[in-house]
Amino acid sequence: MSTQNYFSPVVKILLESGYVNRQQMQQAIARFRESGDITQVGSSLIEIVESITEIQLPPDVQKHLLLQFSTSSSVEKLVRSGYIDVYQMQQALVETRKTGRSLIEIIEQMTGRRLPSDLQRQFKQQLLFELKIVYGVDALDPEISNIASKQINQLIDELIPIEICRRCRLIPISKSDTELTSVLVAMVNPDNLEAQDDLNRILRPKGIGLQRVVITPKDYQYLINEYLDEQLQHKYYSAKSSVDVSADLENLENIDLQDAEDEVEVDLGESLKGAEGAPVISLVNKILAKALQEGVSDIHIEPQEEYLRIRFRKDGVLHTAFDKPFPKNISPAVAARFKIMSDLDIAERRLPQDGKIRRMYQGRKVDFRVSTLPSRYGEKVVLRILDNESTQLGLDMLITDQGTLEVVRSMAKRPLGVILVTGPTDSGKSTTLYSILAQRNDLGLNISTVEDPIEYSLPGITQVQALREKGMDFPAILRSLLHQDSDIILVGETQNRETAKTVMEAALSRHLILTTLTTNDTVGAISRLARMGVEPFLVADALIGIINQRLVRRVCPDCCIPYTPNRFELAKFGLTASQERETTFYQANSLTPDEIVAARAQGTLCGRCNGTGYQGRVGVYEVMPISEQLKNLISDRASAEKIREVALQEGMKSLLTYSLELVREGYTTLAEVERVTFSDSALEAQVQAQRLNSQLVQQATSTNSQHRLVELERQVTALTQQLQSLKMELQDESDKELSALK
Ligand SMILES: [Zn+2]
Repeated sequence: MSTQNYFSPVVKILLESGYVNRQQMQQAIARFRESGDITQVGSSLIEIVESITEIQLPPDVQKHLLLQFSTSSSVEKLVRSGYIDVYQMQQALVETRKTGRSLIEIIEQMTGRRLPSDLQRQFKQQLLFELKIVYGVDALDPEISNIASKQINQLIDELIPIEICRRCRLIPISKSDTELTSVLVAMVNPDNLEAQDDLNRILRPKGIGLQRVVITPKDYQYLINEYLDEQLQHKYYSAKSSVDVSADLENLENIDLQDAEDEVEVDLGESLKGAEGAPVISLVNKILAKALQEGVSDIHIEPQEEYLRIRFRKDGVLHTAFDKPFPKNISPAVAARFKIMSDLDIAERRLPQDGKIRRMYQGRKVDFRVSTLPSRYGEKVVLRILDNESTQLGLDMLITDQGTLEVVRSMAKRPLGVILVTGPTDSGKSTTLYSILAQRNDLGLNISTVEDPIEYSLPGITQVQALREKGMDFPAILRSLLHQDSDIILVGETQNRETAKTVMEAALSRHLILTTLTTNDTVGAISRLARMGVEPFLVADALIGIINQRLVRRVCPDCCIPYTPNRFELAKFGLTASQERETTFYQANSLTPDEIVAARAQGTLCGRCNGTGYQGRVGVYEVMPISEQLKNLISDRASAEKIREVALQEGMKSLLTYSLELVREGYTTLAEVERVTFSDSALEAQVQAQRLNSQLVQQATSTNSQHRLVELERQVTALTQQLQSLKMELQDESDKELSALK
């Protein structure tokens, strides 16, 4: 079989080492094909073999195996081009084996340079060739194949749902209508039986055949992202029509509170079409509709001394909602209208009140949480929009880094324990929790939540609103949920000792508990729990992992400006210009309100971000799964520094590292990373350390002795290689002689 040929050198080495017998080898190859991670053939095969034989391969056999792969032509070319030396290459291969990350990624990180494009191309071609051999199907290279994104979008929308594409890591490419209709599907793992079953279930009843090709994980991700971006844009543009309030303003000259009291139930989208009803009602509806159109999270209605200011919070930042301020005299009527809509007492203007508005918008229900506050110039009204459907729930929609995504997914699969999500307010904590719930939401499980307020509604889940004043606080509800035979419980927030203790105990009595804690880092959550009076051994036993997160704004891809930061700017992030030579940094083209007005008049305003320079947000995650070692440290009350150090050693990616990767991938800007992640002093310290480190590395590599050392290492490695192959040849010959004797 072709797979055998491909593996033959490795198989030979393994069999000859005497650590594996033929049967075990066959088993290993079969398992390797299932796992399908071809990017690290040598390393993952070693892992599989070790798990089958339960014996660790001695370092010399491992090294020999890895070297076997380092002689593959691209690796050889890479070393010969001088981009990387043999010593570094060996390190990279070992790193690949340890972390499971791709070789190119590690090499690029090690050298701080992007691989030259011709080498990248060659690596990719070889990878595609290997994929083709291992899976026995053609390999798809989107860079050279003719791919119509329009057809991909259509196929996903009409035939193979995006959920299946993401779950099974596949994407439909084209549909042929010659003799026999069939769909060409590119799959990261074409041997994935579950995926094939899912596809056949859809295609067979329609009489459509399935044609599989293999695709690299990177290309898959690229195509999926293109689809998602296009969806986002489509949604945005289709909803976009500018809201004109000038007519309403003209009618606002002589209004009184009566105008606000007529309750007309119309779809907010409809209110844009004509000025029905009283002007205040129409105006308020338009404010809500405009906010929904623009996808904002909060609306602030703020009476000022001279005028009424209306601001929207979008992607975490407040902006003026309308070009012109509103006349001050309408403030009481607008506030009254909001209070009527949310069933509040309109006569009470001296005390804060909370309520809720539910309205229809484009055929779906949208909730607004309303809060009023008496202020110097009148009542201030703030509305938080709770729009279920506009928020994408799916871990893969949130977490861009594959490694981090896998860690969170495996944490979510655990049957019992606590998953803590930490971060400041508005860092997307509940979206992460709900996405974990969505992953686990199936009929066989009893899932309940206790929340204040209920932010999303999920089908098939029991959601309970906490009502503190009626004695229905988090611990009380949590205890009743435990008696209701719940498998998974989401606790909106762990704010006090009683909730924390109940959560930990529930987790140890066979429940999976998801909850949030308002601290600013992963390790801080542990000391926070200790300060709440939860015994460290209880925390150590119950915790599955801690997810600490932030949201950074995505720079608008249509109007962002590439630029080169100077070395002082880079040093702030622990980066150096030589490391980032291949990185393209972007600045957001954020305009001032005056510039926006001018740009709109000239017709140069960016249609995607409306001059804000940003469009949407992307999460930054620091995920700390609690390993055995960390459990011991926690129960031994080790210091936060020690725990963090070990977690980083075990591969935890820090918030800063993660956010700088987002910068390198073009998602966001350095300015945004600074705004969002630099507020924590712990991070500052880390930046300092990184800066120092990179200086040290520079100094070290600049010394002569280091160069000589590397050169010597290179020679030793080359000699070892020659020696090994000589030994093998001798071995071969003696084998032949032996068999001839028999
Ligand atoms: Zn833009």
